[in-house]
Amino acid sequence: MGDNPVFKPIEFATDQPLVEDSIYLRHETGAMLDLSPFYLAHECPTCGNLEIFYPNRMTSARTGVMMKSTDTTHEFRDDELVKEFASLTAGASEEAADPPAG
Ligand SMILES: [Zn+2]
Repeated sequence: MGDNPVFKPIEFATDQPLVEDSIYLRHETGAMLDLSPFYLAHECPTCGNLEIFYPNRMTSARTGVMMKSTDTTHEFRDDELVKEFASLTAGASEEAADPPAG
Protein backbone atom coordinates (compact mmCIF):
# COMPACT_ATOMS: atom_id res chain seq x y z
CA MET A 1 0.00 0.00 0.00
CA GLY A 2 1.23 3.49 -0.80
CA ASP A 3 1.68 6.49 1.45
CA ASN A 4 -1.79 7.92 0.85
CA PRO A 5 -4.39 5.16 1.22
CA VAL A 6 -7.89 6.16 0.14
CA PHE A 7 -9.50 4.24 2.97
CA LYS A 8 -8.45 3.01 6.37
CA PRO A 9 -8.40 -0.77 6.79
CA ILE A 10 -10.10 -2.10 9.91
CA GLU A 11 -10.02 -5.45 11.67
CA PHE A 12 -13.06 -7.36 12.85
CA ALA A 13 -13.95 -10.94 13.70
CA THR A 14 -16.41 -13.02 11.70
CA ASP A 15 -17.22 -16.71 11.51
CA GLN A 16 -17.99 -16.42 7.79
CA PRO A 17 -15.44 -17.35 5.11
CA LEU A 18 -14.22 -14.25 3.27
CA VAL A 19 -12.30 -13.88 0.00
CA GLU A 20 -9.12 -11.82 -0.03
CA ASP A 21 -9.32 -8.49 -1.92
CA SER A 22 -13.11 -8.64 -1.98
CA ILE A 23 -15.30 -5.80 -0.74
CA TYR A 24 -18.16 -6.71 1.57
CA LEU A 25 -21.09 -4.93 3.09
CA ARG A 26 -21.33 -5.96 6.74
CA HIS A 27 -24.88 -5.90 8.06
CA GLU A 28 -25.48 -5.18 11.74
CA THR A 29 -26.48 -8.84 12.12
CA GLY A 30 -22.98 -9.84 11.01
CA ALA A 31 -24.13 -11.07 7.60
CA MET A 32 -21.59 -10.32 4.87
CA LEU A 33 -22.58 -9.42 1.30
CA ASP A 34 -19.81 -9.91 -1.28
CA LEU A 35 -19.84 -6.97 -3.71
CA SER A 36 -17.46 -8.54 -6.24
CA PRO A 37 -17.21 -8.21 -9.18
CA PHE A 38 -18.99 -4.85 -8.93
CA TYR A 39 -16.43 -3.53 -6.43
CA LEU A 40 -12.90 -4.87 -6.00
CA ALA A 41 -9.99 -3.87 -3.77
CA HIS A 42 -6.91 -3.81 -5.97
CA GLU A 43 -3.40 -2.39 -5.84
CA CYS A 44 -3.52 0.42 -8.37
CA PRO A 45 -1.03 -0.15 -11.22
CA THR A 46 -0.74 3.65 -11.66
CA CYS A 47 0.01 4.86 -8.12
CA GLY A 48 0.49 1.68 -6.09
CA ASN A 49 -2.23 2.51 -3.54
CA LEU A 50 -4.86 0.01 -2.51
CA GLU A 51 -7.98 1.42 -4.17
CA ILE A 52 -11.57 0.37 -4.75
CA PHE A 53 -12.37 -0.24 -8.41
CA TYR A 54 -15.64 -0.71 -10.28
CA PRO A 55 -16.33 -1.85 -13.87
CA ASN A 56 -16.48 1.30 -16.01
CA ARG A 57 -16.70 -0.09 -19.54
CA MET A 58 -15.86 -2.99 -21.83
CA THR A 59 -12.96 -2.60 -24.21
CA SER A 60 -13.94 -1.96 -27.84
CA ALA A 61 -13.18 -5.57 -28.81
CA ARG A 62 -15.10 -6.75 -25.69
CA THR A 63 -12.11 -8.81 -24.57
CA GLY A 64 -11.47 -6.81 -21.41
CA VAL A 65 -13.17 -4.79 -18.71
CA MET A 66 -11.80 -1.38 -17.75
CA MET A 67 -11.91 -1.12 -13.96
CA LYS A 68 -11.94 2.47 -12.66
CA SER A 69 -10.98 3.72 -9.22
CA THR A 70 -13.74 5.20 -7.07
CA ASP A 71 -11.36 7.88 -5.74
CA THR A 72 -9.05 8.74 -8.65
CA THR A 73 -9.13 8.70 -12.45
CA HIS A 74 -6.86 5.64 -12.42
CA GLU A 75 -8.02 2.50 -14.18
CA PHE A 76 -6.72 -0.86 -15.25
CA ARG A 77 -7.77 -3.53 -17.72
CA ASP A 78 -8.98 -6.92 -16.45
CA ASP A 79 -9.36 -9.65 -19.04
CA GLU A 80 -10.49 -12.32 -16.58
CA LEU A 81 -13.75 -10.64 -15.60
CA VAL A 82 -15.12 -10.46 -19.16
CA LYS A 83 -16.95 -13.79 -19.05
CA GLU A 84 -18.42 -13.04 -15.63
CA PHE A 85 -19.77 -9.65 -16.70
CA ALA A 86 -20.97 -11.05 -20.03
CA SER A 87 -22.97 -13.73 -18.24
CA LEU A 88 -24.41 -11.16 -15.83
CA THR A 89 -25.50 -8.79 -18.59
CA ALA A 90 -26.86 -11.67 -20.70
CA GLY A 91 -29.08 -12.65 -17.81
CA ALA A 92 -30.23 -9.06 -17.38
CA SER A 93 -31.14 -8.68 -21.06
CA GLU A 94 -33.09 -11.97 -20.99
CA GLU A 95 -35.10 -10.71 -18.03
CA ALA A 96 -35.73 -7.37 -19.73
CA ALA A 97 -36.89 -9.09 -22.93
CA ASP A 98 -39.18 -11.47 -21.08
CA PRO A 99 -41.05 -9.56 -18.36
CA PRO A 100 -43.03 -11.63 -15.87
CA ALA A 101 -46.71 -12.10 -16.69
CA GLY A 102 -49.24 -10.46 -14.49
ZN1 LIG B 1 -4.16 4.88 -8.24
